[in-house]
Amino acid sequence: MIPTPAQYTRPTPQNRSPDNHTGQSSGSQLRSTAAVTPDIQLSVIVTLLMMMAYFAGSPVTAQSFSSKTGQLKSEVAEKVQQNHKQTSIMVDKVFSFAELGFHEKETSAYLSSILEEHGFDVEYGISGVETAWLARWGSGEPVIALGSDIDGIPKASQKPGVPWHDPIVEGAPGHGEGHNSGVPLNITAALAVKEVMERENIPGTLILWPGVAEEQLGTKAYYTRDGYFDDVDITIFTHVSSNLSVTWGDAPGTGLISVEYTFEGEAAHSGGSPWRGRSALDAVMLMETGWNYRREHIHPLTRSHSIVTEGGDQPNVVPSRASIWYFFRDITYEGIMDLYETANRTAEGAALMTDTEVSSRILGSAWPRHFNKVVAETMYNNIETVGLPEWSEDDQALARAVQASVGSSQNGLATKLSDLGSPPSSPISGGSDDIGDVSWKVPTVTLRYPSNIPGLPGHHWSNAVSMATPIAHKGVTAGAQVAAMTIIDFLTNPELVEQAWDYYHDVQTAEVTYTPMISEEDKPATHLNTQIMEEYRPLLEPYYFDETRYDSYLEQLGITYPALEQAER
Ligand SMILES: [Zn+2]
Repeated sequence: MIPTPAQYTRPTPQNRSPDNHTGQSSGSQLRSTAAVTPDIQLSVIVTLLMMMAYFAGSPVTAQSFSSKTGQLKSEVAEKVQQNHKQTSIMVDKVFSFAELGFHEKETSAYLSSILEEHGFDVEYGISGVETAWLARWGSGEPVIALGSDIDGIPKASQKPGVPWHDPIVEGAPGHGEGHNSGVPLNITAALAVKEVMERENIPGTLILWPGVAEEQLGTKAYYTRDGYFDDVDITIFTHVSSNLSVTWGDAPGTGLISVEYTFEGEAAHSGGSPWRGRSALDAVMLMETGWNYRREHIHPLTRSHSIVTEGGDQPNVVPSRASIWYFFRDITYEGIMDLYETANRTAEGAALMTDTEVSSRILGSAWPRHFNKVVAETMYNNIETVGLPEWSEDDQALARAVQASVGSSQNGLATKLSDLGSPPSSPISGGSDDIGDVSWKVPTVTLRYPSNIPGLPGHHWSNAVSMATPIAHKGVTAGAQVAAMTIIDFLTNPELVEQAWDYYHDVQTAEVTYTPMISEEDKPATHLNTQIMEEYRPLLEPYYFDETRYDSYLEQLGITYPALEQAER
């Protein structure tokens, strides 16, 4: 299942010699050839002479492209701008699918079909996940991977362009995180770069992949474990934000392990013979009570939260089975594993108190993120060139209305670029993203692009409001320009790839070793969200965006952009 490049082999991060990244690679290779037999030495010299002759007459050495970097970057930025309409259609289409993690069937099929149409080879069902895929085009080095998430948020259904809570389908999932926009951005960038690569005969391989079930931290550690990043040189991950930005070093926020504990007891008639029952629900409640007492004595940078996933069937039957699902977050891997072990003991204590049996399953995991300085600095130059989109009065009016609706400062959309983000001087807690696992495997950054409105709560209907409007469309185009230009930088300047790996080896992994939280046996939790999607998919289908009949999703829904007047009622 591990993808193998068709035409070449390159060192994986594990077997790269450190010398390869200290500028001594040719020296060390020459030293090693000096020790072998004269015949081999001769053949090496002949091969070198042949290579020199070949490259002298060839237009396709990577070095020869560096003089054209600037011109090619302007060109891809222009192509992205020309594709603005097609990009907007992709953004709107995925918004309308509104699928939860592991069930992004329409989204996955739609986006991968676009890549197939453009000549990408798509491997489906990677890591045993039906909606996951890996699309590959090109040949040779560098191998540049582009990823972004595609899943939605439960109960976040929301009409775009409407600044108060107005679901498309009451109770249905929606894009209250903005994950409808990232893969459309990546596709737009990749297609622009591919056109230039084909014309100029630039070597390199582009890989695109969707972050399935990011809200469950559900797949990226599996992709990493299963070898899908083994031949990757650089990963550009993209994530919606309210500014155009990139950071390097340890990112603010946490990693986590997501665990479900299931208790098994004994049923009995709750009124007739309760003494014969052993309540699994009691165990769940005692575990949660124990954890909440414990909370005072764990570091405030940790975060943990739970939901009860099974609590019995009805009051007059002593629950024989009950489950509680936790996220345990901390800013270091060691801290996360400490929390996990503490929780395991708490679960055993609850089982002991109730004479029940406990088992657990890892449902997701995410390492704390660390982003590559060289990639981030290269990207930030392009961010400064592209700048923030020009927002219209309507865009700003919608943003201020949404901000008013959720009680935030009414500052509107960002008009000043973020600085290049460096590691926080003291650690900051917060959310997690399983791109963390990828970031410890290969040089990685997250490009954040301005398709959303500042000051919103996150994972909320209000975060969906802008996501199928001109705000999202412009933000994605700006992000795609930055991504495409950054890919050109790495394709045409091989020394940048080397420098990125130098940082990875000499700084990032000098004192930290990546240890996956999942084992070889763990499997993605693909059962999650099944019932919710069975209930809501048929109700959402009539609202799928039909780009053959409507200019935009706003038009299809009959929304005049922006819908402000009713907000003032
Ligand atoms: Zn996200």
